[in-house]
Amino acid sequence: MPALLGLDPLRLDPHAQRTSAHPPSGRCPDAPCSDVLSPAECDRVRRLRCAGDRADFVAAHLLARLCAAQLLSIDTRELTINQVCESCGGPHGRPSLVGHPAVRLAWSRTRGIVAAAADRRPVGVDIERVASTAYGPRMYELALNPAEAHLVRSATDPDSAFVRQWVRKEALFKAGGAGPAGAAPGGALRFLDVSALPFESPTAERSQPDAAVVVGLHRLGRRCVLDWRGPDRGVLGTLVGEWVPHHVPVAFPDR
Ligand SMILES: [Zn+2]
Repeated sequence: MPALLGLDPLRLDPHAQRTSAHPPSGRCPDAPCSDVLSPAECDRVRRLRCAGDRADFVAAHLLARLCAAQLLSIDTRELTINQVCESCGGPHGRPSLVGHPAVRLAWSRTRGIVAAAADRRPVGVDIERVASTAYGPRMYELALNPAEAHLVRSATDPDSAFVRQWVRKEALFKAGGAGPAGAAPGGALRFLDVSALPFESPTAERSQPDAAVVVGLHRLGRRCVLDWRGPDRGVLGTLVGEWVPHHVPVAFPDR
């Protein structure tokens, strides 16, 4: 097993990452991201009503750029992220890098924490907070296949187990599925079967207030599934790739 399990949490100040890639005039004078993000990204930021959501959005898109810049050994200022929805043509959906079609990008955000990854092979990442209110069996049945739902219902902490399965499925979906053929059936997270993966043992937890901690590394088909837990115990994340990545960039937006 490769000894590459160190997570590398990164405190990210969006303002510190500002570049002069775009002229400051004209784009979106209200948003601090105007000199980093594309016009389409700025437009999406402006539509978010909550300042915290805007901070998370900007941090996720900045972190994805940092990941890609590191992968390509170039400056973030040279990178433009493009998103075109395959269904409606809107500026969301699977991201790509203009001029670097071979690079795969993924990111995820939940309140106050974002994660991102870039690779030349399929990659997916997802993070979620375990909600303070219970999800309950009905949600398990809706979101999971019968085998997964059974495992979740039997777990010591069903809601955490549910969120773990959910982030695994989302990350796998973003990476294009688990099988050699790649794609998952359109939108069908239910058909991505993660029931073969064990849950982390409670003893795997460590108290590292500022760090994300790896709690599991598994194989599923040709994919590596790296489960981690955020610095806040209520945040669960999974990274999916074709090999074990050196680190998972995680950022805590300045909200
Ligand atoms: Zn769409």
